[in-house]
Amino acid sequence: TNDRPLILVSGKLISHVLTRLADRFDIKEIARPDAELLQPDDRERVRGIAASFLGVPASLIDALPNLEIIASYGVGYDAVDAGHAAEKTVVVTNTPDVLTDEVADTAIALLLNTLRDFNRAERYLRDGSWPDGPFPLSKGTLRNRRVGIFGMGRIGLAIARRLEGFGVAIAYHNRRPVDGVPYTYHATLGDLAAACDTLINVAPATAQTTRAVDAAILQALGEDGVFINVGRGATVDEEALIEALQARTILAAGLDVFANEPHVPQALLDADNAVLLPHVASASQHTRKAMADLLVDNLESWFDRGEALTPVPETAAISRKA
Ligand code: NDP
Repeated sequence: TNDRPLILVSGKLISHVLTRLADRFDIKEIARPDAELLQPDDRERVRGIAASFLGVPASLIDALPNLEIIASYGVGYDAVDAGHAAEKTVVVTNTPDVLTDEVADTAIALLLNTLRDFNRAERYLRDGSWPDGPFPLSKGTLRNRRVGIFGMGRIGLAIARRLEGFGVAIAYHNRRPVDGVPYTYHATLGDLAAACDTLINVAPATAQTTRAVDAAILQALGEDGVFINVGRGATVDEEALIEALQARTILAAGLDVFANEPHVPQALLDADNAVLLPHVASASQHTRKAMADLLVDNLESWFDRGEALTPVPETAAISRKA
């Protein structure tokens, strides 16, 4: 008999995941997290899932009677039905910490690009326009800004630490204040938006945060307002954001994430006051390899020692030994 657990690799993951998994596990790859893509005997054999950003729906969990663990690639696991996994005593793991600095670096780059229009300035140079005259002065600047961070967690804190070096005022909103940080806490997102002109979203996508950044929040930032999103598109009312950009009730937005990825509304593509990135905040070879290692380390630890390394809170109580 074969005692190598069968791991379902669902969606596209970097080759490092497959290379490492092959040392210890049998592998079955499917393009999408859809049980229809699996033969009945494979469904029976699957004990773990290595899950891409496409996540894992309840229907796939239900189709795999011997599933023990879902190791998800990325720290945000909103695409995995962790509540359903917990009910089925399936542990879910994510990849916290190893991507924190990369995502914080991206947030700062996106903020500066949005304020200073560097992407368009480079296009101006490459277009051959420079000899005709200097690139127009940017409307935006980081000088004198009051920055609000929605989601002062691992990444939010790393963004705040970087911003300290820029000499801007820093405030935040979480459900609870964080002990030992010097930044101003606001108990509601509305209070934070009223107190700042630059809002950075890095909160997780949950039922509570869905469309939390709405027309009123954007309005509160003011006409010099800037919205940066490195969290999730679901946290923003994208139509309200488009309206605010078009009506120029805010100055600009910098977005790494969208409501319906990889599809980006034409109105955002057309907006000259938006900087748009294709969900690349953690996407360096260095950091994606570290995420891949932590994903595989979770599976190995589970099957070798009966404990996951980085289970998500919903499934933290589940252990294989129990
Ligand atoms: P953490 O869990 O460390 O931080 C999340 C923070 O959000 C916590 O401080 C939490 O505080 C706060 N929060 C959660 N729910 C709410 C709520 N309902 N209202 C207000 N605040 C809330 O996560 P990370 O910092 O590691 O990651 C944050 C998110 O960033 C991920 O979930 C992911 O979606 C996104 N991300 C995006 C990437 C990209 O490629 N663009 C890359 C990596 C992450 P409290 O519990 O007190 O409310």
